[in-house]
Order: sequence, then C-alpha cells, then structure tokens
Amino acid sequence: MKHFRLAVIPGDGIGKEVINEGLRVLEHLSQTSNTFTFESDYFPWGCEYYLEHGKMMHEDGLNKIKNHDAIYFGAVGYPTVPDHISLWGLRLAICQGFDQWANIRPVEFLPGIEGKLNHPDKEKLNWVLVRENTEGEYSGIGGRNFTGRGPGKEVAVQSSIFTEEGCERVIRHAFELALTRDRKKVTSVTKSNAQQYGMVLWDEVFQRVSKEYPEVETDQCLVDAMAANFVLHPEDLEVVVASNLHADILSDLGSALSGSLGLAPSANLHLDGRFPSMFESVHGSAPDIAGQGIANPIGTIGSAALMLEHLGLPEEAKLINDSIRAATKDGILTADIGGNNSTKEVTDSIIAHISKMY
Ligand code: ATP
Ligand code: MG
Repeated sequence: MKHFRLAVIPGDGIGKEVINEGLRVLEHLSQTSNTFTFESDYFPWGCEYYLEHGKMMHEDGLNKIKNHDAIYFGAVGYPTVPDHISLWGLRLAICQGFDQWANIRPVEFLPGIEGKLNHPDKEKLNWVLVRENTEGEYSGIGGRNFTGRGPGKEVAVQSSIFTEEGCERVIRHAFELALTRDRKKVTSVTKSNAQQYGMVLWDEVFQRVSKEYPEVETDQCLVDAMAANFVLHPEDLEVVVASNLHADILSDLGSALSGSLGLAPSANLHLDGRFPSMFESVHGSAPDIAGQGIANPIGTIGSAALMLEHLGLPEEAKLINDSIRAATKDGILTADIGGNNSTKEVTDSIIAHISKMY
C-alpha cells in the first residue's frame, strides 16, 4: 500500500471549489481501490492571503512544501490583484523554485461534449502538449524604463532565455512520452523564422535529439501555422512540444476546441527527484462564476489522475479518466459544456462510475 503526503493549495475563486471535488474523488478511490492512502496539508495561499499579508505565499513557503510527495493546486487570481503579481508570486514561484521543467497538458475530446472542433472522428484524437516550463519567454528577465526618456516614450525589455540543457530535457521528455503511446509522433513548435537565436537553438536541439529516436515520427511547425493546424488538420497531432509561451497559448486553444477551458488537466513535472511536482487544471480562478457551484471540475479531477500516474499508480489514474468519460457520455455536464449539472453532481457521477468499475 502506497502512502502520499499532498500539499494542497486551493487558491482563489473556483480553485477552492474544484480542488475539493478532486480530493473527494481521490478519497473515494483510496477507499475503493485499497492501493493507496494519502494525507492532505492545506496551505491557504493566494490573492486573499496577498491582500492580508502583502505576499502571495508565506515567505518560507517553498520550504514548507518541498518534502511533500506532490502539490495539488486550485487556481489563483483576483479582480483587484494584478495577474502578474498573482502568477509570479505563487504559481511561477513554485514552478521555478522546484524546477518543474515539463508542463504536460493533455487535450482529449470526451464523449457527449459537442466542443468546437468540426471533425468526424474527434473522439479518437488525443493530444499531449509538452510545455517548457522554467525558461523561454517567461524568464522574468528584463525591465522597465530602460532609456529614462519619460512618460509616453518608455522602453520596456522582456528577454527570453533558451538554454541548450533546458531545450534538450523537455524535448527529450516529449520523445520519451511518444515512445509510451500507440502513435509515436512528436511535433516541435517554434517561431524560428522570426526569432533567430533562442528558437533556432531549439530547432537544432530538436533535430539532434530526434536522431536518437528513429522509431518516432517527427514534424516541425511554426506556431502560427500550428494554431491553424489545430483546427484544420487535428489528426496530424499527437505529442506537441513547444516553448513556455507558445504551448500556453496552444493549450488554451486545444481545451477550447475540446469544449471548455474547464476540461483541461495539467502536470508541472520536476523529473530529477529533488522536488515535488505540481498538478492543476489549466484554467484560472474564473471570478465570473466563482461561488455559484457551477464550475466544471473535470480539469482538476483529471489533474488528480496525472498526479496518481506520476506517483506510480497508472491503473488508478486510468480509472479516473475512464470514469470522467463515462460521466460525460451519460450527459452529466456543467454549463460551460452545454449541460445544467452542478460541480458536485458531475463529481458524484464520476465517483459513482469509479464504484461501478470495481
Ligand atoms: P488566468 O489569468 O488565471 O489564466 P483567465 O483570465 O485565463 O485566468 P479563467 O479563470 O481561466 O480566466 O477563465 C476564462 C473563462 O473560462 C471564464 O469565463 C470562466 O468562466 C471560464 N472557465 C474557466 N474555468 C472554468 C471551469 N472550470 N468551469 C467553467 N468555466 C470555466
Ligand atoms: Mg489564462
């Protein structure tokens, strides 16, 4: 029997609501499967914490969670706190502090959900975006008012950092992931025609690493063309690896095509054994629907499946994903995907399917 210690950070808005649903599913699965137990330590960090304490997390925050087996994260954001403060103060502080260099964002087309993609066989599509998660365009390097020329003439510089090691580890991970899948294909996305240093380095590393994986089909694509391909040639895609910014944008596109931002799970993986990885849905705190009990919990429940897979429980992870599919097939859907069920009803349905599968 495995035992885990989870650091739970519910965050703000619907983050608090959906994280509870994910924990309910984990609790139920732990009892029915008898293969793992877990304990949760809660950390009340986020924008409310910021408004009270002037920072998004405790100043010793990373130390408080570094020995947990995994971090389960809701969402952060608040209308009165600038997004760059909430993002850098907590989510990116954890991703960068714990060197969570691979952000895995699967996109699936679930049964019973119409979605926005016009494709006859879309339930067979199954993409995984592998996002470089610690450098690239989100390096945090730059500054304001470089020339000191005053109001109306300010110059801001925002630098991207691409290291050969950083590119290589995430590209290699994409190939390793491809090897585990039925269809072995990796598509690399850059904008190397316009950004001639970092992105060309990325392309060169991709070509070098790809030679070590002759069984994996490869493709390289510019990000603008890739955005079109998501819609026009979705069957061409399998594992897609891209930089921090590009993969962020493409994953919102992918989840919107699949039906809703609320469906998309993600894993921020540290794969070198020193720090915990973090699991969270792709969406934000959605203040427009917070507190109404109507948020879609599927992205966060799917993130719990990614967490179990990472913790060495692939069968339990599959059971969660199969139960999510069974629930949407039954038509138990929140409003964002065309239904009228509550957050809780969707989770209850997933839990009932887990019970049935045992
Ligand atoms: P962030 O800045 O944190 O990325 P955002 O500005 O992208 O946040 P989100 O909070 O992700 O905004 O929400 C974008 C839109 O999608 C909102 O209209 C929100 O209601 C909707 N949405 C997001 N997540 C869900 C969900 N789980 N269920 C239902 N609707 C959602
Ligand atoms: Mg967003």
